[in-house]
Amino acid sequence: MNKLSIIVPCYNEEEVISLFYRETSAIVTEIEDLNYEFVFIDDGSKDHTLDILKLLCYQDKNCHYISFSRNFGKEAAMYAGLKQASGDYCVIMDADLQHPPKLLPAMYHAVSQEGYDCCAGKRMGREGDGALRGLLSRSFYKVIQRMTHMDMSDGAGDFRMMNRSMVNAILSMKEYNRYTKGIFSFVGFETKWVEFHNVERAAGKSKWNLKSLFVYAFDGILSFSTVPLKLPGILGSLLLLLSCILGGFGLVQQVFFHHSVGTAYFVSTILLFLSSLQMLMLFILGEYLSRDYMENKNRPIYIIREQDSQTVKESSRIYDIAPARRSVI
Ligand code: UDP
Ligand code: MG
Repeated sequence: MNKLSIIVPCYNEEEVISLFYRETSAIVTEIEDLNYEFVFIDDGSKDHTLDILKLLCYQDKNCHYISFSRNFGKEAAMYAGLKQASGDYCVIMDADLQHPPKLLPAMYHAVSQEGYDCCAGKRMGREGDGALRGLLSRSFYKVIQRMTHMDMSDGAGDFRMMNRSMVNAILSMKEYNRYTKGIFSFVGFETKWVEFHNVERAAGKSKWNLKSLFVYAFDGILSFSTVPLKLPGILGSLLLLLSCILGGFGLVQQVFFHHSVGTAYFVSTILLFLSSLQMLMLFILGEYLSRDYMENKNRPIYIIREQDSQTVKESSRIYDIAPARRSVI
């Protein structure tokens, strides 16, 4: 029988965690031929979240928890949960019921019967998020799509059910600054999208403020794009062009029309020329740095989706990726 691991990062969720557990377990027990486990990650909560989790684990042997020594953030919690999970399939869910548990049966059907590796929730609308947050988020996703050329659209969040191959591929990306939305896109795999309407969290408060959202957005761009390091190249080239045009114009005036443009004109053109060279040198440095930066992340060079049984043993040893279990329908 297959096993589903439900991974739930929790940070100060005392008001909602029991409700989440009741609603989700009621739905998941209805799915036929499926064992399940809850993996709760207490991300250094300062309220009674951990006490409630201990009680849940005491009452239900399908519940497990890990508790961080301090708040490490949702990205770290998701990584820890995936690492801890023992299921053939894993689903990541927010504790506040903004990820509707009623979608779980359809998601499980998609990954276990329809041949998909992943079934991801796509949130429609941003009701309950506030106008400013909605506007900033939409703009951010437009920018990051352009800068990274990866599919990281607005609404595509962390709510997704994945098979073991995809989970192992995600775990093989051990980078410290994690931006899981980008990692989902990086590892690839066949994904089915299911839409759901955004609802306000069932209880408690969102852990994000404007500052943490900016840091998160910045992390996302820097983790998957080296475009910012190319900016001195663009600026340097423009300045070089401008200094050449100005220098050429000055020389033509001087030589052909015997009309002096003045020493100050030439001095500032030369200064412009020199600073454009500095910019271009910075660009070259940036190019070396960006290669080193990406290299240091030690990302897998490729990820295998499936293979025949003879090559399985060798490559699963190297890449820690399970042999394909899915049957293509
Ligand atoms: N979360 C976490 N660590 C944090 C912040 C949030 O584990 O530092 C969890 C939180 O408990 C919830 C999920 O991440 O289960 C999403 O958080 P939240 O609802 O605050 O985010 P939003 O829905 O507003 O984007
Ligand atoms: Mg939420």
